[in-house]
Amino acid sequence: MVDGLEAFFQTKRFDVDNWLYCDDCDEKTDMEISFNIQEYPTILTLHLKRFYFDYMTMGYQKNCCPMDIPSTLTHFKSCTYDLYGVINHSGVYGGGHYDAYIQSPENKDWYCFNDSHVIKVTDKDFLKRSKTAYMIVYRKSERIFLFNLLIKKNTMETSTEEAFKTANSR
Ligand SMILES: [Zn+2]
Repeated sequence: MVDGLEAFFQTKRFDVDNWLYCDDCDEKTDMEISFNIQEYPTILTLHLKRFYFDYMTMGYQKNCCPMDIPSTLTHFKSCTYDLYGVINHSGVYGGGHYDAYIQSPENKDWYCFNDSHVIKVTDKDFLKRSKTAYMIVYRKSERIFLFNLLIKKNTMETSTEEAFKTANSR
């Protein structure tokens, strides 16, 4: 997962065979493309590219590459995320079955939602080497979130106090 995130945010270079059209130059040209997050969302949903078009068979295939799903995502510098949902797809492209593991916000226990059945999950093996994880849902860590809010509040109070002092000294 962390490898995947790193690859996603890496700068990609497009040259010679992969030139992209540039509006400013009005022609195809070398280009570098990178992504960054400007504002971190409260809910972070990661959609894995399990399905891809295979030019050898000229059809869609499923990538069953196993992956580890961290309970806490510390990849980003400014905030951490806590895992609370994993949606699985088992089977092949065009046929298969979905189920979901969701953590209860009340007792922090995990439950597997499988059609009409909901069962409590006692071991967390589904987080290790998962070949079925398809969408992964994280919530911004409240500890960090509250901490940031506190800092913001304190900074505001300090600046308000300073503003009063400045105003009074005049
Ligand atoms: Zn250009």
